[in-house]
Amino acid sequence: MNILKEIKGFSKINKDRIAIHSGDTCLSYGQLDDYSDRLAVWLNREYKESRTPVIVYGHKNPYMIICFLACVKSGRAYCPQDISIPDQRVLDTVECVEPDVILQVEGNIDFAGANVKKLSDIEKIIENETEIIDESCWVKPDDNYYIIFTSGSTGKPKGVQITFDCLNNYLDWSTNLGSSKEDKEGKNFGNQAPFSFDLSVMDLYTCLACGGTLHTLTKKMQENYGLMYEHFEKADINVWVSTPSFADMCMADRKFNKEMLPNLEMFLFCGEVLTISTVQKLHERFPGVKVINTYGPTESTVAVSDVLITAELLDEMKTKGKSLPVGHEKPGTWLEIHNEKGEILPEGQQGEIIIIGDTVSTGYFGRDDLTEKAFFKCVRGGREYRAYHTGDAGYKVGGQLFYNGRIDLQVKLNGYRIEIEDIENNMLKLPQISHAVVIPNVKEGKVKSLTAFVTGELEGRKPQEFGREIKKELKDILPIYMIPKKVKYIEEIPMNNNGKADRKYLGGLL
Ligand code: AMP
Repeated sequence: MNILKEIKGFSKINKDRIAIHSGDTCLSYGQLDDYSDRLAVWLNREYKESRTPVIVYGHKNPYMIICFLACVKSGRAYCPQDISIPDQRVLDTVECVEPDVILQVEGNIDFAGANVKKLSDIEKIIENETEIIDESCWVKPDDNYYIIFTSGSTGKPKGVQITFDCLNNYLDWSTNLGSSKEDKEGKNFGNQAPFSFDLSVMDLYTCLACGGTLHTLTKKMQENYGLMYEHFEKADINVWVSTPSFADMCMADRKFNKEMLPNLEMFLFCGEVLTISTVQKLHERFPGVKVINTYGPTESTVAVSDVLITAELLDEMKTKGKSLPVGHEKPGTWLEIHNEKGEILPEGQQGEIIIIGDTVSTGYFGRDDLTEKAFFKCVRGGREYRAYHTGDAGYKVGGQLFYNGRIDLQVKLNGYRIEIEDIENNMLKLPQISHAVVIPNVKEGKVKSLTAFVTGELEGRKPQEFGREIKKELKDILPIYMIPKKVKYIEEIPMNNNGKADRKYLGGLL
């Protein structure tokens, strides 16, 4: 698969077929291919040999996709940044990437003197450009295609580099999930995640590789349930892609059923635990619609395993009192369970899930130290592959992988990946806090909320006032989903025998 060739192919078959539908705006395959070709020519003329990644800032405007494709057609990776990310975190990313240019499609942010092209500039460039980019300029198989930043334990996000090859290998598999690539041609795909999260790669590129139409869900729609349900009905979605938490949220309204989405064929889930109760409800409300659980980290291009959750599988797991499996590995990937010495464990034994194969990232952008810790190389099937330490605990039964929590302090809250230390280190930036420990509140194997225990200077404030003030100040430095639901003042953080914060004890106080 070569996703750029696929898109070009669909634009030749039918240039007017709608590729992206966002709010009131539509973009056809013809426009997507042509506009990105022209913007790519301009990038190459303006920034010549430089192959520095480009930051693309905005939300769900279809021009975001034009910019992504223009970058890679000019031989540069893009780094998507959503408007919901606090400005300081976006600026940290800019500092890390040092882009020649930032393409700002939407939003208000002060990029502090950086070279920024806004939507009106981008539109003008496309309008005035007469040349079309040559395919020889496109990113090469081993070049970075995109860099997605995820939560990092130091308090600064880390950039996962995904090559053109990784994306194409992933798409060979994802386009055939639940039905064949050919069956998905012309189908309506639902998008939930912002483009700065790798879950969006599953909807955006799987859709474009199949010649489908992507219906993006904007922040505004998500904040108004009425608008959101109206959007689902109008979009007439066939392929649903989201986190399980998002589907749970939608199911809060009984209207979210087969009548609302009569032509829905499948739910593709990824990013967090899919519970038995979520699938039971989906089976009831959407009879005949496939529910597929996929598993994987950003570091291995979205997902590497899948399993269809049938009524029989559901019953079997319920009877055995087990949680749902995350499936079998995709072709080109080995999922192994290793112990601390790096030895492969036999079936049934729990250890760390290791991913080896053709979609594993080349590492973190500009962070060889972090890359060395998390990635290694090994030979499988007579070929050398990259391998990644997921930090996930798991085991295999009959070749099927079961996820069983984390071996470190990373959590998933409503589908968002969060390093607990990322929150703690950012909380320490507030002068009134001397120590912060964040504890996840877990139910049914899923994190439901976060509570921060803090010590510091009350300076005459009541503890509750103190907590409220901290939550307010955190809004400037952390994305909303990372702000603990409760901030509790305590006089002293309890320590365990190793002299570390006693997280177990604090967990008992929730
Ligand atoms: P992200 O990089 O944001 O996709 O997060 C990757 C992490 O999400 C994995 O390492 C797992 O901890 C978790 N995860 C992804 N998919 C699943 C799944 N199907 N079930 C349970 N956890 C998952």
